[in-house]
Amino acid sequence: MDPVGVTAAPETGPSPAWQNKCPWGTPKHAAISCCLADVMSEQLAKELQLEEEVVAFPEMVIVAEGPFITGENTDTSSDLMLAQMLQMEFDREYDAQLRREEKKFNGDSKVSISFENYRKMHPYEDSDSSEDEVDWQDTRHDPYRADKPTTTPKKGFIGKGKEITTKHDEVVCGRKNTARMENFGPDFQVGDGIGMDLKLSNQVFNALKQHAYSEERRSARLHEKKEHSTAVKAVDPKTRLLLYKMINAGILETITGCISTGKESVVFHAYGGKMDDKAVPPECALKVFKTTLNEFKNRDKYIKDDYRFKDRFSKLNPRKVIRMWAEKEMHNLTRMQKAGIPCPQVVMLKKHILVMSFIGQDQVPAPKLKEVKLSSEDMKKAYYQILHMMQQLYKECSLVHADLSEYNMLWHEEKVWLIDVSQSVEPTHPHGLEFLFRDCRNVSQFFLKGGVSEALNERELFNAVSSLNIAADNEADFLAEIEALEKMNEDHVQKHGKKSPFSSDGDPPIIYDE
Ligand code: ADP
Ligand code: MN
Repeated sequence: MDPVGVTAAPETGPSPAWQNKCPWGTPKHAAISCCLADVMSEQLAKELQLEEEVVAFPEMVIVAEGPFITGENTDTSSDLMLAQMLQMEFDREYDAQLRREEKKFNGDSKVSISFENYRKMHPYEDSDSSEDEVDWQDTRHDPYRADKPTTTPKKGFIGKGKEITTKHDEVVCGRKNTARMENFGPDFQVGDGIGMDLKLSNQVFNALKQHAYSEERRSARLHEKKEHSTAVKAVDPKTRLLLYKMINAGILETITGCISTGKESVVFHAYGGKMDDKAVPPECALKVFKTTLNEFKNRDKYIKDDYRFKDRFSKLNPRKVIRMWAEKEMHNLTRMQKAGIPCPQVVMLKKHILVMSFIGQDQVPAPKLKEVKLSSEDMKKAYYQILHMMQQLYKECSLVHADLSEYNMLWHEEKVWLIDVSQSVEPTHPHGLEFLFRDCRNVSQFFLKGGVSEALNERELFNAVSSLNIAADNEADFLAEIEALEKMNEDHVQKHGKKSPFSSDGDPPIIYDE
């Protein structure tokens, strides 16, 4: 390799020109003060060393003896370029090797694991990094220059008295600096520097150290940016694997990005592929229920007072409990679908990931009622539609949404779509009727505020949905009656098993409900 296009001039003289600058003094004078045996041993040592060098570091020796470092005016201005070219060469080889490994690792798999994060950072390709630059020109000691041939034999016959000690100190210090390069980050390539007898001046060492640190920071920044731009950023490795498997199986074409990050779930958009036994919608939404301990604890609180659930709950590990929520949403959506309520169609459930049809188009989710500005006519239309849906949900699906509001209703194709039904319960749930009342209050308030004058108030809506005809004309009494009914239902369930007075159809019971 001859990266700078410099070919070494064969050395002819007994002492190369750079030795004139040798801090130990010129060998000529030194020789005078020595006996013949010493001179011979010195020459022998030098020759042996040189021989070794040529075998071990052929390029280094050539560079060391090249015109770059000859003469009094040792010119280091091209060293930056030289260093960069050497580094570039190294990086190229490294990256090529990485690509080969990546290819071998991924094989024919449709989903590939990228080794991109292991790729070298190229400082000289990055122009906005003035803070990270090291002023190589300033240093007389080029770390890429092989100093080894000048190594003083252990026998200290060059120089005298004090001189030996001080110079020797610098050398020891230089060697120590070289050894300390090992403390740089694992990604910082120091080449063979540590292995050879390289002496780094403090100045160079400090510059390198600074460079190593800033390089680490830059690398972290860069990789961080990349990490954040990936579609499946918010999921744990197990979830990611499940998603990859869906792609590999052809069920999904691609996962394009994240639509929403909630407390308990993350929703992704994906283009559908195909399945053997049924059609996959062209666009899908993937609802990934969060499985982290924190989120699990939040849910824990939510369902704590359901004594029927607690029993089963305590026997399951957190992951399985989260899966039950996903499963529950699936069952609820399926029921709604059967009743003809506009809602996402279930494609499949894989552990804690629910794949359903996407409500929206071209990756743009349909707006929530909260976000969309409807004409008063559409507003009225939406209201009557919701009234009807709530009745269907209660009577035909035996469900109470339990989180119904303008945030969980989407406006798409001129109608309202219901989403987010993982928490939906049967009306016989110990708090089912309270949840229904809350839903009614949200809906009623939203439409009354939105200018739908014919919208029923919350109590009227509750009665219209449930047909329970609670007569109380204020909220406190109304709620008291609701709670009394719930209590009655509970007692009934306790006494007679699962069937409750107002369970309407023979639908299979969903997972947490009676
Ligand atoms: P949570 O509110 O518990 O985070 P949601 O089921 O409400 O979960 O989903 C969060 C958001 O993701 C919704 O507000 C909606 O914007 C979007 N979303 C969820 N499911 C779909 C779907 N099937 N089609 C389009 N967008 C969806
Ligand atoms: Mn929601």
